[in-house]
Amino acid sequence: MKKKYIYRINTGSCNGCDVELLATALVPKFGFSDLEFDFTNTPQNANIVLVTGPITTRSVSYLQDSLSKVPEDKVVVAVGICPISCGVYRDSYCVEGPLDKFVAVDINIPGCPPSPAAIVQGFLKAKELLTQDEVDA
Ligand code: SF4
Repeated sequence: MKKKYIYRINTGSCNGCDVELLATALVPKFGFSDLEFDFTNTPQNANIVLVTGPITTRSVSYLQDSLSKVPEDKVVVAVGICPISCGVYRDSYCVEGPLDKFVAVDINIPGCPPSPAAIVQGFLKAKELLTQDEVDA
């Protein structure tokens, strides 16, 4: 499998999940480097889209614009309970989530925030889906 690229979209996270993502990517013992994944700032290059945050009203246009630029065969991953169910922000006047109102979600990584081990498990599932897509193509 060729190297795959992750594009991250923050839709109003408290940054807890983003810090865990950073720790997962930077601390060697979590094994991120073995996955042959890298982060990209270019949505058009993405194979995997990670979304953190509960989808605040102000982030909706950014989310939709970003999603419109990533390739159709992307794997969408909800990181943390916020994009899955809005978490502690549920019923807030300024929250429009969950994420599956806007896009089909392939993988949910629950937690507030999820641990690096849970994030790596989610990445392994994403790798499986991408590998399956390559076999089917
Ligand atoms: S799931 Fe928890 S840690 Fe992650 S963005 Fe939401 S409130 Fe913050």
